Amino acid sequence: MARVGRWIRRVLDRPGSVDLAPYQRVVAEAAALEDEVRGRDDLRPPDAGPAWVGTADFCAVVREAARRALGQRPFDVQLTGVLAMLDGHVVQMATGEGKTLVGAMTAAGYALRGSRVHAVSVNDYLARRDAEWMGPLYDLLGLTAGWVAEGSTAGERREAYAKDVTYAAVSELGFDVLRDRVCVDPADLVTPPPRVALVDEADSVLVDEARVPLVLAGAADPGTALPEMAALVRRLSRGYHYTIDEEGRNVFLTPKGTDTVEKALGIDLYEHPGVVTQVNLALHAQALLTRDVDYIVRDGRVHLVNASRGRVAMLQRWPDGLQAAVEAKERLPASETGEILDSLTIQSLIRRYPRICGMTGTALAVADQLREFYDLRVAVIPPNRPCVRVDEPDRIYPTAEAKEQALLDEIETRHATGRPVLVGTLDVAESERLDEALRGRGLRPVVLNAKNDAEEAAIIARAGERGALTVSTQMAGRGTDIRLGGGDPEQEAEVAALGGLYVIGTGRHESSRLDDQLRGRAGRQGDPGGSVFLVSGEDHLLTAYAPDDALPPADPDGVVRDGRAGLLVAHAQRVAEGVNLEIHRNTWRYTRALEKQRAEILERRDRVLHGDAGAEALRIACPGRYRELEETAGEETVSRAARQIVLFHIDRCWTEHLGFLSDLREGIHLRALGRLNPLDEFNREAVPAYRAMLDEIERRSKETFEKADLSRDLAEQGLKRPTATWTYLVQDNPFGSEWDRVLKRVAGMLKRGRR
Ligand code: ADP
Ligand code: MG
Repeated sequence: MARVGRWIRRVLDRPGSVDLAPYQRVVAEAAALEDEVRGRDDLRPPDAGPAWVGTADFCAVVREAARRALGQRPFDVQLTGVLAMLDGHVVQMATGEGKTLVGAMTAAGYALRGSRVHAVSVNDYLARRDAEWMGPLYDLLGLTAGWVAEGSTAGERREAYAKDVTYAAVSELGFDVLRDRVCVDPADLVTPPPRVALVDEADSVLVDEARVPLVLAGAADPGTALPEMAALVRRLSRGYHYTIDEEGRNVFLTPKGTDTVEKALGIDLYEHPGVVTQVNLALHAQALLTRDVDYIVRDGRVHLVNASRGRVAMLQRWPDGLQAAVEAKERLPASETGEILDSLTIQSLIRRYPRICGMTGTALAVADQLREFYDLRVAVIPPNRPCVRVDEPDRIYPTAEAKEQALLDEIETRHATGRPVLVGTLDVAESERLDEALRGRGLRPVVLNAKNDAEEAAIIARAGERGALTVSTQMAGRGTDIRLGGGDPEQEAEVAALGGLYVIGTGRHESSRLDDQLRGRAGRQGDPGGSVFLVSGEDHLLTAYAPDDALPPADPDGVVRDGRAGLLVAHAQRVAEGVNLEIHRNTWRYTRALEKQRAEILERRDRVLHGDAGAEALRIACPGRYRELEETAGEETVSRAARQIVLFHIDRCWTEHLGFLSDLREGIHLRALGRLNPLDEFNREAVPAYRAMLDEIERRSKETFEKADLSRDLAEQGLKRPTATWTYLVQDNPFGSEWDRVLKRVAGMLKRGRR
């Protein structure tokens, strides 16, 4: 019976969207109140308690506040979105529908209910832009808003977090949480307890970036031997000494290569697994990572390029070994290597909030993930004006070369009409190739690559002008509106008459959501517009995720028109999405085990930091010593020292435990091949290791306490914390973890299985 119930729920829930009718009724009532509210001096009624938020009067009031403060009267659909978000849903609203305002009205609602709101952005630029843009609205409602960005000082952060609404990039929020976790003085804490997270570009943050770990590292000794390793592999040649697999994700030494390396190092590689790792890293850096595509070198440092986003990822680095190998390859001094003090995935960061809501142009396609990982539901809000964009069917070509020719012709023809053209590429390398080819034809495209966010926003804002030709990687999460005519009303009419913005995708993404985000750039707010994607049988999507040779043949003019081709593309996308979901699920299973332990240790740590738990523990563990010190140094001093000692060992042991778990997790996949369930295996060892860690904290604390000299600085007596800490995001290992590779191989088998 329960099964049937579940089945019915599934069917009724399809397509997984929240019923809007109750919200629409409230919004309709709000319309009737508009005139009366317009006449009010003081907008909020005097008896507006928490229950008032979400009523028709509330809607009428925030609408009027937006009109007065920003000169924009929120549309009914925007108010509908606000109500859905106040209920803790993720709203799907297309690009250009005014989600910034929807988010602000929602945040104001939560704040009026008495909850502090963190408005989560994708980058610093947008956090600041939105906080400043929406500032007058909050003001008028008697609320305060602030923002946090990379350069903010601890004082500025504390001040921003004290506001009713704080805008911040997801990474900054996470870094603040991480830094607070190693705080030894309550006065240094920055972040308030989490209450409401309001997430912009929710699918990107909650699903695509969910697995990205934010890391707090502390200075440690740099590695050695890397420059020699880099010099050694520089002398090796592809094909002879090593080979690269077809996906460009793996590199293998040939027997000849192994021989050469062993001779050069004078050792037998089999007996030195550590050296094998170093050779491998050096070889990966040398053969698989390309300068100016995967990374750039600027100011003597390696900066990663986030290929799918097409921008320099300032805060990111690869896992330490690989980062150092690339630095050695470029003959740069090794940047500081650090020990990971603690880390936190974006998913864990957001799940700390008891209330989560969000907004994005594409949520429905990830409704299952949002429910599975965050228990969130999606509300699909209709557009304010119907969308009249013309989405042409994909144009499919047998080869990459044929596609490229067609692409250039298409761009040239469209551009010649004066219609603004936006070309979306799959990665930075492609943008650059395309730029060169277009210049070869005498065109002058504007390429959005690795520029800073503010500059980018200015360029995007002009992408709708007459004759604009813009090439960009990944439009999702860029947050800037493309208005026809760039905001000039006269030109707007002219550009509209030409057909509006035309979007050309140079290939379908691994996820149809990203396709939709790109398309959605055209046809905003009922504007005319068009879109088309070009696909070739040699695109990565098809070679990786579709059966080989399954593409029907082309017509004599070189275009594949057989209807099965489109189905094939859709199938490949589904396989790719399935693989990515499985990777996400799997990471989450491990993270969850770790999260439980982390929550527990943090609770203990808090009791030590804010209370007397440290002193209590040591008083019981070493009663004689405690009394003795109390008599000589005084109660206050002993209690402070006890706190410092226990906090130090908690942090130290946790760091070591994390290192142990990460090794355990990497190693466990090898056992998976031995048919043991890797997660069970992981838990079997992680749980006792955690208990052992608790004992170790106690043992070390006692030991330090017994011999500590309280008249001297404890840091000099072995309690030395890292001299410097810094934060970064780990970019997914570009070659995937061992487990990711296993899954990709499974995808490969699925794909072959369908042949
Ligand atoms: P989204 O994030 O949904 O893509 P934005 O929040 O960037 O959209 O808003 C797009 C544009 O629409 C902005 O220029 C904004 O000023 C405008 N806008 C939003 N709401 C309204 C409204 N109710 N009336 C008029 N213009 C609006
Ligand atoms: Mg936006």
